[in-house]
Amino acid sequence: MTKTVHHWIGGKPVEGTSGRWGPVADPATGEAAARVALASADEVDAAVAAARDAYATWGTSSLAQRTAVLFRFRALLDAHRDEIAELVTAEHGKVHSDALGEVARGLEVVELACGITTQLKGELSTQVSNRVDVASIRQPVGVVAGISPFNFPAMVPMWMFPLAIACGNTFVLKPSEKDPSPSIRLAELLAEAGLPDGVFNVVQGDKDAVEALLAHPGVDAVSFVGSTPVARHVHATATAHGKRVQALGGAKNHMLVLPDADLDAAADAAVSAAYGSSGERCMAVSAVVAVGAIGDALVEKIRERAEKIKVGPGSDPTSEMGPLITAAHRDKVASYVTGAAAEGCEVVLAGTDLTVEGHEGGFWMGPALLDKVPTDARAYREEIFGPVLCVLRAETYEEGVAIVNASPYGNGAAVFTRDGGAARRFQLEAEAGMVGVNVPIPVPVGYHSFGGWKDSLFGDHHVYGTDGIRFYTRGKVVTTRWPDPSETPSGVDLGFPRHH
Ligand code: NAD
Repeated sequence: MTKTVHHWIGGKPVEGTSGRWGPVADPATGEAAARVALASADEVDAAVAAARDAYATWGTSSLAQRTAVLFRFRALLDAHRDEIAELVTAEHGKVHSDALGEVARGLEVVELACGITTQLKGELSTQVSNRVDVASIRQPVGVVAGISPFNFPAMVPMWMFPLAIACGNTFVLKPSEKDPSPSIRLAELLAEAGLPDGVFNVVQGDKDAVEALLAHPGVDAVSFVGSTPVARHVHATATAHGKRVQALGGAKNHMLVLPDADLDAAADAAVSAAYGSSGERCMAVSAVVAVGAIGDALVEKIRERAEKIKVGPGSDPTSEMGPLITAAHRDKVASYVTGAAAEGCEVVLAGTDLTVEGHEGGFWMGPALLDKVPTDARAYREEIFGPVLCVLRAETYEEGVAIVNASPYGNGAAVFTRDGGAARRFQLEAEAGMVGVNVPIPVPVGYHSFGGWKDSLFGDHHVYGTDGIRFYTRGKVVTTRWPDPSETPSGVDLGFPRHH
């Protein structure tokens, strides 16, 4: 009997009633792992209604009440790290250590949310005028919808809901239909932590559920993470329906290697960042720009390391790289490599003929390395989201930065150098929201916000950190006057209020 993954509405599991189901595969075997309910508009409506009802009390609950729940959730999450990581590996395919890393990065945001008391302190100016005080406070937005991608089924939801609920909002999560189980386990742990029913809901589904959320009058804000075309659509549609939106999109992250860099360290970093999680990370390095005469030596060092990567099932502790998410995605990723030579690339490693013994049905692809990639090659222009690393050559720093900045994406960008002046220049000149200096995957810690520029983010706010708290709250300024009883009585004054 195949496992069935249901919704979580109003504090309990709710069976899907739409009659539509999506397949969930074990990517390491290619076999069915589960089927997931795909919500209809009516089921989305039920989840939003539960969140709206819960908002009536959660929105005015005390900070002490909210943080007590979050501290208990933090402890439960910590105790269940392994189990959640196993759920991630079973449906996503990434290796267990990588899945544990994803849970740890989600936990960071939960910890930030535990400290919401200090983050939500307002500002007060006393005696701005005679007996007049002004306070700036922040209040919740209402019902937040979170829509997440397949590649971080535990972490990306945790970029969103811990801060949203800490700020007093209620939440409806629509996880990726490709790996839906971790979201339900998180919902169970939140319930166990004492979160009131309806504060956190999960509707499983595909684009139909997304469209229903974007147009729903009961949803006040939308946090989206996924590919650029969908992010652009989500932003346009939800803002047209009057909602506050942050929509994070795809990426093509560059790593600029300057001639003075430690080439072994740069090669280690490029290989880790390009092939970790099979390249299915929005912060994966997918383009290395080698500056000056180092190109051949760097490519050779990358090749040596990439060839040694052990590809295998995520549940095998000796595997370093797991399978891709679906057969269709694997075939699409492979098509970039098979078409590369005709577009002028040198195929150093193809990665397309890999089989893993005992797991022949898995969605495998080995590390692929393309050198001397022209900027008009499809493998360079498009986000591949697989284990394919493109190396480009540049004569000078300026030429290298121009390549980085001509990309329509602007998520992460890294520079590898021993020259502090060049690094500082890159930090200021790179058109990306997150920059690494000798750090290939500069994902900010929980208390700094995560987000890209250009086609990597639609909206004004990055996720988590200070930006996340601002996104999940509305500002209000209260001006107060308490007249002294001995004061002369007030009189009518039609002039514009001024402070004396
Ligand atoms: P995706 O855009 O296909 O799906 C994301 C979410 O949108 C899912 O919940 C999915 O059900 C829904 N969706 C898919 N197609 C839709 C449509 N046509 N209309 C409405 N909703 C739709 O992304 P994915 O394949 O799940 O994830 C990989 C992508 O996410 C990559 O492009 C990656 O770069 C990006 N990503 C970005 C970040 C970031 O922080 N910028 C983080 C993780 C992943």
